[in-house]
Amino acid sequence: MSDFSPASGLAPWQRTAAGAGLLASDGTIAATIFAEMSALASRTGAINLGQGFPDEDGPVEVLEAARQAIADGVNQYPPGTGMPVLREAIAAHQRRWYGIELDPATEVLVTAGATEALAATLLAFVDTGDEVVTFEPYYDAYAAIIARAGGVHRTVPLRWSRELGAAWRPDHDELRAAVTDRTRVILVNSPHNPTGAVLDTETLSLIVELAERHDALIVTDEVYEHLTFGAAHTPIATLPGARPRTISISSAGKTFSTTGWKIGWVTAPAELVTAVLAVKQYLTYVNGAPFQPAIATGLGLPDAVFADAAAALSAKRDLLASGLAAAGFAVSLPEAGYFVIADAAPLGYSDGAALCRELPGLVGVVGVPVAAFVHPDRQSAYSSLVRFAFCKRREVLEEAAARLAGLSAG
Ligand code: PMP
Ligand code: GLN
Repeated sequence: MSDFSPASGLAPWQRTAAGAGLLASDGTIAATIFAEMSALASRTGAINLGQGFPDEDGPVEVLEAARQAIADGVNQYPPGTGMPVLREAIAAHQRRWYGIELDPATEVLVTAGATEALAATLLAFVDTGDEVVTFEPYYDAYAAIIARAGGVHRTVPLRWSRELGAAWRPDHDELRAAVTDRTRVILVNSPHNPTGAVLDTETLSLIVELAERHDALIVTDEVYEHLTFGAAHTPIATLPGARPRTISISSAGKTFSTTGWKIGWVTAPAELVTAVLAVKQYLTYVNGAPFQPAIATGLGLPDAVFADAAAALSAKRDLLASGLAAAGFAVSLPEAGYFVIADAAPLGYSDGAALCRELPGLVGVVGVPVAAFVHPDRQSAYSSLVRFAFCKRREVLEEAAARLAGLSAG
């Protein structure tokens, strides 16, 4: 378990960049790892398994509904909390999949992707010096927003237990030690980026118990909720005691392969939604008018559409994971999501960040170093790990695997 406070003497924007490890000692700001690696892929023509976005469109009904909405003139500001048709579809989705009953008028808020939902939520509740607990590795935006809010980011490591079928899990004693009366928010991400972990019920229950004991909020990022390959996703809000203190965040980007549309949402008790809205309405106010009814259409599609998307992705996971293993990496098989983590140490590469910069030249593939999801002071445990995205067409993954096999040959 670790904690770190925002560096003093920095301007707020520098603190934001520093939070995500993007502020260099000479004062320059680096691009996010996703932007850097996508630029590297387009510059070199390498296969981009870095930034997580699919290279195929999702359900045609969703795409067609957006075209129709534009044609129908749904092109002006939607209501500040989102269009009623989408808020109702989100509430119906939570009832259908998880048995969660929500009032679409007061307990649902549409946001500009999960990113805005996270930013508005943390800015709404985290004050200077408040602690926010996340697992580590963590999605880069968490650290940046916590730092901007003036919060203190405490982390609990997820460890790759090779005995446990290579699942990533936290140590419960370390989790207990991280949450104190100073904790304002426990920020949970399950299914998890970058490890693909789906947190087990014991861990989720412990989070609820600790949040209750220390009167902390639970903020949960569930953007990969439908992309699970074994155990189904359990929203933490369904656990006993969780609901009154939980703000649940999700997004349409992953579920419907529409990452560029940036339609996300918050579901929570009305007073928490009101607090998030107070900030959200001065970030974007609103976004994506014609995409909102289109995502409502998507959320109403039959169960088989969701199951088929997960099954197709699961096959892609297996394809890339076996390619990476054949190429000589040690691979942790993800339980969900878009990404597989591969350890390059068996191939003789101890520095995953350096390897990622060289990989286009070596074999024409781009990945992302897991170190980008870890605080700069704690990189050693993760330094030889690389995250590869498998949300790509089969032939692209087959070609990437064939190219990566060249690493051991070289
Ligand atoms: N949280 C996690 C864990 C993510 O991986 C991502 C992006 N893929 C986001 C949030 C951001 O979601 P959105 O694109 O809807 O803002
Ligand atoms: N969530 C995507 C990923 O993890 C990246 C989104 C972004 O570029 N900010 O790869």
